[in-house]
Amino acid sequence: MTVSGTSPVAPFVCDSGALEALLRDKTISCPCCNGRLTAEKLGRLLSDVQQLAAAGSNGETRTVAGPAKTGGDQAGMIIDPHAHMISRTTDDYEAMANAGVVAVIEPAFWLGQPRTNVGSYVDYFSLISGFERFRSGQFGIRHYCTIGLNPKEANNETLAEAVLDVLPRFLVKEGVVAMGELGYDEQTLLEDKALRAQIELAKDFDLPIMIHTPHRDKRAGTLRTMDVLREHNFDPARCVIDHNNEETIREVRDRGFWCAFSIYPSTKMGSERMAAIVKSFGPERIIVDSACDWGVSDPLAVAKTARLMAQRGVSAEAIHQVIYSNALAVYGLNGEMRKEHWLAPAAIDQRTLYEGNSVLRGGQTPRIEQPGRSADDLQII
Ligand SMILES: [Zn+2]
Ligand SMILES: [Zn+2]
Repeated sequence: MTVSGTSPVAPFVCDSGALEALLRDKTISCPCCNGRLTAEKLGRLLSDVQQLAAAGSNGETRTVAGPAKTGGDQAGMIIDPHAHMISRTTDDYEAMANAGVVAVIEPAFWLGQPRTNVGSYVDYFSLISGFERFRSGQFGIRHYCTIGLNPKEANNETLAEAVLDVLPRFLVKEGVVAMGELGYDEQTLLEDKALRAQIELAKDFDLPIMIHTPHRDKRAGTLRTMDVLREHNFDPARCVIDHNNEETIREVRDRGFWCAFSIYPSTKMGSERMAAIVKSFGPERIIVDSACDWGVSDPLAVAKTARLMAQRGVSAEAIHQVIYSNALAVYGLNGEMRKEHWLAPAAIDQRTLYEGNSVLRGGQTPRIEQPGRSADDLQII
């Protein structure tokens, strides 16, 4: 729109009643036909804009930020397929949603200190498949999980046996997309035993597998894990090998596995190196995740890496593949994770109670996307 006139420009008042005065001795031309806009036409335009803005703040129009301008209606969307969200805050959830994260996968792992009995495992599994799933949804992010006995705790034989016994009842729960994190820590006999038992369980329950590769002796541990999977005839197209680096990527991809990278801040495996990897290896079967947890980690690592990849000249298509569609392809295999969940999500209503608890504390104003629903309908038991 161009404004021309002789008198000084009157201050803009966002109210159509003041338009006559505003237009008094000026000509505003229409941006599409270049014709003269009357006060009445301008008033209509203003009310259209106000309606659009109101619809946007009601959540009727979802806009997602992000660098990848491809993938049709999924452009700019991010899936973080490795995030230990129980140790993150509601601020993290809000920041992730603003950065374009539409879904997260919470892999079962250890807690930073050893569990002492199977009961704490049972509660943990039900937390990551229950309340955390609800909590995430209250901030507009779909939450899925993987279930498994981690390699570190496989070394406590009594605990490990008890955990293996309770796994089946959690493997069939809603939102469980794989078994994981499985693999090796110190590559002991007991770790090997637990890994093999769980590969068989994954086959029985038709679930993909997420592999945690050891941080020490990574290359040897990664090769050994893939050998064991092959011995058990586990289809590599149903398995993600995580925490890769340049030493492991070639063999992991050559053998047909999905190849995930955890981006840890201030370490060697940062965004810059990830961008270089995608540039030289291409995006096929590569997945980027934050692996954020209770340690020094960044829940926005995937979004930041995507932005850097764009700056380094990686194509929008390739970025979309490594931050969204590859993860969806493999973790969507058992049908629990589907894009409809975030393309047509239920309206957020933070008055919702999960077993009597909400995400709000006394006096806070709930976010309500669809006003008018009775609070009685908002109970998850
Ligand atoms: Zn891990
Ligand atoms: Zn992890």
